[in-house]
Amino acid sequence: MKYSKLFGKTIKEIPKDEVSINSQLLIKAGFIRKEVAGVYNFLPLGLRVLNKISNIIREEMNNSGAQELLLVSLQNKANWEKTDRWNNFDALFKVKSRYDFEYALGPTHEEVLVPLANEFVNSYRDLPLKLYQIQNKFRDEARSKAGLLRGREFLMKDLYSFHESEEDLMKYYEQMKKVYKKTFLRLGLSAIETVASGGTFSDFSHEYQVICESGEDEIIYCSGGDYAQNTEIAKVKEGKECDLGHGPLKKVKTIEVGNIFPLKDKFSKAFGLTFKDKNGKEKHAIMGCYGIGISRAMGTIAEVHNDEKGIIWPKSVAPFDCHLLVLGNARDKADKIYKELIDASVDALYDDREDVSAGQKFSDADLIGIPARLVVSEKTPDGKIEYKERNKDKAEILDLDKIVKKLQSA
Ligand code: ATP
Ligand code: MG
Repeated sequence: MKYSKLFGKTIKEIPKDEVSINSQLLIKAGFIRKEVAGVYNFLPLGLRVLNKISNIIREEMNNSGAQELLLVSLQNKANWEKTDRWNNFDALFKVKSRYDFEYALGPTHEEVLVPLANEFVNSYRDLPLKLYQIQNKFRDEARSKAGLLRGREFLMKDLYSFHESEEDLMKYYEQMKKVYKKTFLRLGLSAIETVASGGTFSDFSHEYQVICESGEDEIIYCSGGDYAQNTEIAKVKEGKECDLGHGPLKKVKTIEVGNIFPLKDKFSKAFGLTFKDKNGKEKHAIMGCYGIGISRAMGTIAEVHNDEKGIIWPKSVAPFDCHLLVLGNARDKADKIYKELIDASVDALYDDREDVSAGQKFSDADLIGIPARLVVSEKTPDGKIEYKERNKDKAEILDLDKIVKKLQSA
C-alpha cells in the first residue's frame, strides 16, 4: 500500500476531548476517528489491526471445536421480556420503530442464540454444541472516556457452549482457559487469569486481566502466577504472603480483555431448551459463555505497547509486515524494492510521499508503529537495505534478500 494513497494520515495535534492514551495514539496515527463519545470509526489502518486480532481469535475458537455464525443486532423484545432483562439490563439500548415495534439493540446474545439452538437441539447426540460470533455490541455505558477500552458500540467475540451436564461444561470450561491464555499470548498481551464473582449465574467466573495503570479494574495477584482475584470480591489483602512462598501479593490496576463464565441452566430454562438424555429423560441444557473484547484488546495493545514516539505493534497484529521509506532521489530504487516485497508476499506500507521531509517520514513511521522499518536512499548500496526494528535503537545495512526472507517467515 502506498502511503500517499492511504485513506487516513497522521496528524500533529490530538483532539482536546480525547483523554485516553489509546485513543490519542490511534487517532494521531490515523487508525480511528471518533463519531460520538464511545463510538469510533476504524480507518483502513485500524481495520487491518482489528481484522488481524479477529482472525487470531477465530483460529483459536475454530480449533476449540466451535462453529462461527452471525446473529442479529436488532433483537426481539419478547425474548428479552422472557428472561426478565428488558427492564433489568442497565445498559440496554432500545430502538423504537416508526411502526409499532420495539427492538433491543444487542448488548449480548443469549436472547437470540438460545431460542435458535432450541430448534436444533433435541437429543444428547446434539450436544455438546459450541457456537460463536464476532460482531458489534451496543451498550449504553454510563461513562465512555477511555477510547476503545469502553465503547458504546464495540467489537466482541462471544461464544456460547451447550452441554448435557455440568461436568461436561466444566471440561470445556477448563479447555477454554488454556485456549484463552494462548489467544492472548498470540495477541501480544500477558493476561492474568483472575477469579471473579459469577454475578447472578454462578459462584465464580474467570476474567483475563492485563496490568495497566489506566484500567478500570483492580486485582490482587501473586507474581508467581498461582493466585489472582478481582478486588471486588477478594477477601485477602495486598501484602499478604503467598501460600506457596512467592512473596507478598500485589494490587494493580488492570483492563479486562476477556472473561468466561458458567451460565448453567438460567437461559435454557427461560426458553425451554431441553434434550432427551441417554435414558430418554428430558433435561435442560447446561450452558457456558466466553467473551473477548476485540476492539478493547486493540485499545489495550496500544495502551501497553508504546513509547514517547508512538505505538509499537506486536508482529502478530501489526497493520503491515514492514514500513518502507524512500528518502531523497531514490524513487526508482525504492519502487523496485516495493515490487520485490509484493512479489514475495510481504505486506509493505510504502511511504512514497515526495513533498515530505525525511524527519517527518521517520517520525510518522515511529508513530504508526509497524515492527520493521526499511529505508532506501541514494546512499543505499544495490542489493542492500537499511533495516530497523521499531523496538530497537540501532539501524543496520543488511542484504535485501535476507530481510525479505525474514519478513516472509514472520
Ligand atoms: P466490563 O466489566 O468491563 O463492563 P463486562 O463484564 O460487562 O465487562 P462482558 O459482557 O462479559 O463484559 O463482555 C465480554 C468482554 O467484552 C469483556 O471481557 C470486555 O473485554 C469486552 N467489553 C465489555 N464491555 C465493553 C465495552 N463497553 N467496550 C469495549 N469492550 C467491552
Ligand atoms: Mg459491562
